[in-house]
Amino acid sequence: MTISSRALALNGLLLFLYVVLGRLTFAGSVEHGNVTSVIFVPEGVALAFAIRYGARVAPGILLGQTLLSYWSGPSVLGGLGIGFFNAFEAVLGGYLFHRWRLSLGFDRLRDVGLFACMTFFIMQPISATGGVLILLAHGMIPAHIADLLGGSWWIQGIQKPLLSLDLALPAWMHWWTGNCVGQLLVAPLVLAWLGPAKHKAPPLRWIELLGLAAGTAVVLLLARSDLPSSPVLLLALGYALLVWIALERGLRAVTVANALMTMMVVWLAVRGDGFMSHLPVPERLFYVSFFVGTAVLFSLTLFALFEERKDLIHQLTELPSKDALTQLGNRRHFMEQSERELARARRDCQPVSLALLDVDHFKAINDRHGHTVGDQVLQMFARCCRATLRASDLIGRVGGEEFAVLLPDTDAQNASEVLRRLLNIIAQQSIHTPDGSEVRITFSAGVVEIAPGASLDAMYSAADRALYQGKSAGRNRVEVFRPGRPETSPASGDAQPET
Ligand code: GH3
Ligand code: MG
Ligand code: MG
Repeated sequence: MTISSRALALNGLLLFLYVVLGRLTFAGSVEHGNVTSVIFVPEGVALAFAIRYGARVAPGILLGQTLLSYWSGPSVLGGLGIGFFNAFEAVLGGYLFHRWRLSLGFDRLRDVGLFACMTFFIMQPISATGGVLILLAHGMIPAHIADLLGGSWWIQGIQKPLLSLDLALPAWMHWWTGNCVGQLLVAPLVLAWLGPAKHKAPPLRWIELLGLAAGTAVVLLLARSDLPSSPVLLLALGYALLVWIALERGLRAVTVANALMTMMVVWLAVRGDGFMSHLPVPERLFYVSFFVGTAVLFSLTLFALFEERKDLIHQLTELPSKDALTQLGNRRHFMEQSERELARARRDCQPVSLALLDVDHFKAINDRHGHTVGDQVLQMFARCCRATLRASDLIGRVGGEEFAVLLPDTDAQNASEVLRRLLNIIAQQSIHTPDGSEVRITFSAGVVEIAPGASLDAMYSAADRALYQGKSAGRNRVEVFRPGRPETSPASGDAQPET
């Protein structure tokens, strides 16, 4: 698929979603006078697409709004005008989202806060002002001219022309609220399903599913009953439900819960009877929008807090076992993991090999090029180890320029072959220094196959002895320890660090 046909497909999909969801949204709207209260879902879809795919989705928004206005209005001109403002505001939102480096996973408190601010104070003032100005302009066209034009330019039915300035402020408020909530509710939902789920959440358990259903049923029953239920009670129950879901489940679950919750309360508000009966009908959806906006913001905030907490716990548990420079396990962590692996190998009667690797003449690299270059060499070495060795092999940085590898299910012969492959790979790597020279390195390794019943410490000493033999024999080689006589597998002669 070429870029342009992909853009075409994206715009087509967005146009379809915009029109269909817009029409469905209007089915759940409340009209009062010239002002419509609606949680405007297409705005959220448009913003998510603009965030994910950039400015190229603007035509889909523009045409989507035009078609929607024509369908629900009808008015081509009004739709084009509103579509222009909505497309501009969504593309601006997409730009700001990346400019401020907000995360698609909504997993940081800062990101949720900035996202909400962006919607409330930047995008929706643009959309609401643009939309209200267009409706006002329509209202100003004299009737005989409108008739002359066949009246088909009007936005009729759902979005009516504003006939006086007095109507502008309430129209603006409803427009702003409905669109803000639409974006806050729907954009994270669409983004959560478009992108990869960051933390794979465990599947819902039966008891949780029952809890969800029961919670929803209780809220619905209370709202529909003659009991003196109030939005506050509904709010409390809904919040509890969302809090509970946000604790354990990923962004997808949280955003779906928000959507379910919204559909439930909007349905109740639109049906009217028994629910919020103390409020005048035209204002119900307006109040519901506030409830939904607050609940969504609250659940996203909570979700971000929990994700930050998870990350923090992860970092704190990793910290004592990780080497900061190479991100490999440190000596203590390596030894602990190796003991566990060794116990498993003994139980399954499988061979295990241990290798100690030491960069040759590393001190000379530090002396010649400085510690920063030395650090880069160590990072490159760790990267190569990770890329070359199997995922099941344990790698640790056990000293300054010394590394250890435990190879499960591997005898000494195979381990030395793996390490010789690593020798070749490392030999092909180079680090470019600020003064323009190139640093290449070699290493020496001592390998030992762990004998049944032998302790890790004893094997470590044996590998160390083999390594020492390798250094004495000229470096840049793999030495296999055999009791009595070490066997040398040179890759080349003694290597000096090359610059
Ligand atoms: P050999 O071939 O015998 O192993 O020689 P060598 O120079 O590699 O060995 P030696 O043990 O003499 O030097 C190791 C050097 O590693 C000394 C120390 O300053 C340096 N080193 C240890 N940790 C770090 C580190 O984290 N970063 C840097 N840049 N250097 C380190
Ligand atoms: Mg050393
Ligand atoms: Mg060394």
